[in-house]
This record gives sequence, C-alpha cells and structure tokens, in this order.
Amino acid sequence: MGSGRETREVTEPVSEVDSSPPLVSGAPEEIARGVYVIPDARVPLVPNVGLVLGSERALVVDTGMGPTSGRHVRAAAEAVAGARDLVLTITHFHPEHGFGASAFADTTIVYNAAQRDEFRAKAAGYLEMFRTFGDNVAAALEGVELIDPTEVYDGDVHSLDLGGRRVELRTWGQAHTLGDQVVFLPEERILFTGDLVEERCFAIVPYFPPDDTDVDGERWIGVLAKLEALDPEVVVPGHGGIVGVSVIQDAREYLTTLRDEAWRLKADGTAVDAAVAELDARMRSLHPDWRQPEWIGFGVKHFYDAA
Ligand SMILES: [Zn+2]
Repeated sequence: MGSGRETREVTEPVSEVDSSPPLVSGAPEEIARGVYVIPDARVPLVPNVGLVLGSERALVVDTGMGPTSGRHVRAAAEAVAGARDLVLTITHFHPEHGFGASAFADTTIVYNAAQRDEFRAKAAGYLEMFRTFGDNVAAALEGVELIDPTEVYDGDVHSLDLGGRRVELRTWGQAHTLGDQVVFLPEERILFTGDLVEERCFAIVPYFPPDDTDVDGERWIGVLAKLEALDPEVVVPGHGGIVGVSVIQDAREYLTTLRDEAWRLKADGTAVDAAVAELDARMRSLHPDWRQPEWIGFGVKHFYDAA
C-alpha cells in the first residue's frame, strides 16, 4: 500500500461515482421466512447485508464499512432477532464488507482461517488506501477499529446450527481475495456470495501490483462453477439486486470471456494498454447496463500478468 502509483490506480474505480455517503441504511427486507437483507440501494461501497434467524441464534452477514454502518446493522439485527444471540460473519476482508465489525465486538465472530490471515496482513493497508477515496469514504471510516474474529475454522465448510436452521459457511480459497466465503442455506437454497458475484456490475478484480496481486481470476472462474453446482434458488450478491442462479452464470461467462480474450490478445503481441482499450469498449457494449466498468481494465491487466 501507499506508493503513488498504486494509490492513483486504486482511486480510479471510484473517481466517477456519486458522493452518496457509503453507509448501510434502510430496514431489513424479509426475502424468505426469517431471512432478511438490508439492500445496498446501489450505493457505491455499500454491500448487501444478510440476517438469518434460527430459534436460538441469528447470523449477520457483513457489516458495511465503518462504525456508523456497523451500529446500523447491529440495531437492525437486534430488531429482528430479539433475544437471540448474534453471530457475525464476513464474506471477505475488504473494508466495505467487514470494517463495521467493532459494533459486534461482544458477539461471536466467525472467519475461515485464510480470511483471518488476510485480514491481519492487509486490513491496515486497505484502511489507509480507502481513506484516499474521498471525503465521504474517509468520514465513513472515522473511528474504525479492526476486530479479530473470535472463532476461526479450517477446511472448506463450517456448519452453524442457529436452532432449527442450518447454515453453511463455505470457502474454496483464493479467488476475489485469498479467503472468500459464501453463506449457504441448504434447505432454503439461498446463497450470499460476497464479491464473488455482483449483479449488473463488472467483476471487481482487486489487482493492485505491486501491493496486492492475490486475486486469482482463473481460480475465481472455477469457484463460480462450484457456486452454480450448489444450485441456489436465490442469490444475494455482494452488490446489486437479489436474483436467481443466472447471475452466477453471467459472472462466470464475463470472467471467462475476459480471460480468453486477454490471453488471445497477449499471444498476438498486443500491448496491454491496447488490450485494455479494446476489451473495455467491447465489454461495455456487451453489458450496457452494468456498473463500474472501471474494473474491466484491472481484469485485463490481471489476466495479462497471469498468462
Ligand atoms: Zn471485495
């Protein structure tokens, strides 16, 4: 983190967005019995937040980016959960998903091991980086405390019994980050994906050499196939609307096309900047209603360097 080059590149994706405060707001909406989402309202740097009730415990999925969002999510969780004990999990270490966790410091917080390790290694650097994204982002991050999980699981699946309701935390390791985690309700077939899947939004490829090059687009494509194999009926993406399994197929096809075309252009001897320009134009025309096209170029550069 922190070199001038890296800051400039990382600032680019949010330079064109509006100045809405990047705060989780609004009330939980019940999408199935005892399963709620606080929608992102398509505000940049705000995630969809999940609340899942069992008879004894309630699981919170993501907190938003800072203490204000964290407190909002905590209050919303208490409003729907009543006397149930709260359990928090985060889909991955990125600030807009988990840097409100201090509002849950007195609850159980569950991560997978890779996610915990990546959080410890990178959270302070990402906090510094995000503060350069604009006054509204810096304000949302004011007073952030970086909170370790209280429970960490090894392996690729961890079942939680919330009381009459089983929830699976699943990870396939490195993809969008080193420790991406999804939350799956196997009986209701509801899947919370974090940033492995977005709806009407180009895949966020956090490729920031030399500081963070841990995204793995090739593995990510494989993980998306595994998410499809879970056969979810309802998909809650990291950002965007709540939809069906087709949103995962769309994300996989996008990344596959981006990879194949980047590798073809590289094999043809096309310079990376020319490849970015060509694929940026083509992907925008293929997906005219998708947001954050700034990420297309990051994806091309990643696949170029990974070829
Ligand atoms: Zn992310």
